[in-house]
Amino acid sequence: ESFADLNLGEIIGNNVVLSKYDTPTPVQKHAMPIIMNKRDLMACAQTGSGKTASFLVPVLSQIFTGGQPEFIREQNNRNNRKQYPIALVLAPTRELASQIYEEARKFAYRSHVRPCVVYGGADIGAQMRDLQKGCHLLVATPGRLVDMLERGKVGLDQIRFVVLDEADRMLDMGFEPQIRRIVEKDNMPPTGQRRTLMFSATFPKEIQMLARDFLHNYIFLAV
Ligand code: AMP
Repeated sequence: ESFADLNLGEIIGNNVVLSKYDTPTPVQKHAMPIIMNKRDLMACAQTGSGKTASFLVPVLSQIFTGGQPEFIREQNNRNNRKQYPIALVLAPTRELASQIYEEARKFAYRSHVRPCVVYGGADIGAQMRDLQKGCHLLVATPGRLVDMLERGKVGLDQIRFVVLDEADRMLDMGFEPQIRRIVEKDNMPPTGQRRTLMFSATFPKEIQMLARDFLHNYIFLAV
């Protein structure tokens, strides 16, 4: 399987070519077709395995080719108080969230899909102003996202993809209550009406329980 076999669509496919990711890494080779086939996924993969592109590329491709480019363009121009992202990526730290965001910008280039990032320990005002310019893919640390939800800056009603990256690290850092609040409360569409993808270096009992609660008919992948 190469990137070219995946039917990513012209814009996202071309951005992969521009990124010079010629050969997919093992996690990319296996995870991307699963995600393109609209299945939920529990993937055990380490940092450095190329896991970021393995979820960003198929998710961005489906956001864009999912028949909503008009909606996407319109939403970008609205300058709304509250944003309704289509995809949500949760990550444990500011550093990881920023890296995912930078990679998302690269792959979303010229697609009208606008990524945003929010994390704790930084000025929330600047992050809110950036959100208001339009947000289709939101990368967030759990605590800061809860803050944004409580301030009414973000709505989860339109979410079609949820990614938990480095899920074991998020649990180690004590984020389980925030993660459960985000995924199980508010207006997040239930399992089965959204796609959920979990990435974790390890697969202990706590992660198995999250997978049981958050994923629907999922495929397990270990690379
Ligand atoms: P990640 O595990 O997602 O943090 O990726 C680790 C590093 O590998 C990042 O610097 C990526 O830019 C790079 N990378 C990911 N996939 C590929 C690929 N298929 N070819 C070359 N470099 C890649």
